[in-house]
Amino acid sequence: MYLSIATTHNPATDLGFLLHKHPDRVHETALSFGKALLFYPEAKPERCEAVLLLEIDPVGLVRGRGSAEGVVDQYVNDRPYAASSFLSVALIRSVKTAMAGISKDRPELAAAPIALEARISPLPARGGEAMVRQLFEPLGWTVQVEPVPGPDGAASPRYLTLTLSGTARLSALLNHIYVLVPVLDDDKHYWVGEDEVAKLLAHGEGWLGGHPAQELIVRRYLAHQRSLARQALARLVPEEASEEAGPEGVVSREDVLEAPIRLHDQRLATVAATLQAKGARVIADLGCGEGKLLSLLARERWVERLVGVDASTRDLDRAQRRLKLGQPGGPPEKRITLLHGALTYRDRRWAEADAAVLVEVIEHLDPARLPALTRVVFGEARPRLVVVTTPNADYNVLFPTLSAGAFRHADHRFEWSRAEFRAWAAAIAEAHGYEVEFDDIGPVDDRHGAPSQMAVFTRTA
Ligand code: SAH
Repeated sequence: MYLSIATTHNPATDLGFLLHKHPDRVHETALSFGKALLFYPEAKPERCEAVLLLEIDPVGLVRGRGSAEGVVDQYVNDRPYAASSFLSVALIRSVKTAMAGISKDRPELAAAPIALEARISPLPARGGEAMVRQLFEPLGWTVQVEPVPGPDGAASPRYLTLTLSGTARLSALLNHIYVLVPVLDDDKHYWVGEDEVAKLLAHGEGWLGGHPAQELIVRRYLAHQRSLARQALARLVPEEASEEAGPEGVVSREDVLEAPIRLHDQRLATVAATLQAKGARVIADLGCGEGKLLSLLARERWVERLVGVDASTRDLDRAQRRLKLGQPGGPPEKRITLLHGALTYRDRRWAEADAAVLVEVIEHLDPARLPALTRVVFGEARPRLVVVTTPNADYNVLFPTLSAGAFRHADHRFEWSRAEFRAWAAAIAEAHGYEVEFDDIGPVDDRHGAPSQMAVFTRTA
């Protein structure tokens, strides 16, 4: 079984400093059940790849275990070949400092999200591809899986080659793998006791508490021992719940993180001012959520009509209440319309809007679905003005409680740096006949920019 970790961060060979393992050598770590070899099949400034290869001694595995019972089963199984809790042990033994996010020679790099790709094979995944996605995608990884034959040679849906790609701190990647590989395998090789709770909480710090599948992760990681799982969950939950709850009793981590700068209010005010300055009259708020921007715009006399579109009926219900639609004292009929719909399909109900806005929406879409959205908005509806905002990932290092590689919100599929956002927007403008300008939202840091970024597209053709 092997784990490969590659980066294209330049110079990529800095991976050696992050792992505390020189790219020119093969590093061997002795383990009670075999050995781990770490080496670099590629070490160039443009791309560097480290491989952790586990050689498990099947005889050593069962030697000294005492009981003669089940000996055949102990020899004839997938344990020597499959990625499992053995891999987690090997990680701790060989790259512990990197897992802690410490690099003596490159401390800044250890703290920075960088482009990473990890590949693990063969990975036994109880629950298959859907489970793999459920575990890794909320953490912001792009997941790719391919089937691999099992130890008997036959193709088996149980074994996968998993490729994760994304931008994160190396320590975040290692901790995600450390916890989630045994969770996928669902079969620990050692007795699980109370110290496992502490390990889980330590390696899950900063991401497990906000993970939508946290119960399943905790249950499986702790080998389905209910009392341990209860302990772990009790210690995970208060972290989140102790924060001040919003009006609906719901706190998003994003709101908590960004609260000190009241970022969302600034964002909405900036977008509203931009719309006014550009002469927008009929505005489509795409992914309007609970209607915060709509309610701000509803008060403005320069606004003629508003259309809100969202895929979530729950959010639309909230928006309807917030905007007092159809209630006495609410807006005149037809001034505001809420539509249930998906932004990745053409929708003529908002075709007459002269401006479309996407406030903190694109990062909620799977990157593979983004081209459909851009086609609908810029290729088909083609409003005169389009305003898009999204978090600036460069700024994330400045949120004191946001841990390595984590996103501000559990539902974010990606968070882009300024360079990534600008490249995406420039390509769209070029392809669809728009001009694009960029602006910062929130306080600007000299090195990392502002917490949020905005692109304003004006149609030229
Ligand atoms: N613009 C709002 C909400 C942002 S949250 C605000 O700034 O407060 C992102 C919103 O996009 C969510 O309400 C979600 O339901 C919606 N959304 C995400 N993907 C969507 C899609 N493909 N089609 C329609 N709505 C979508």
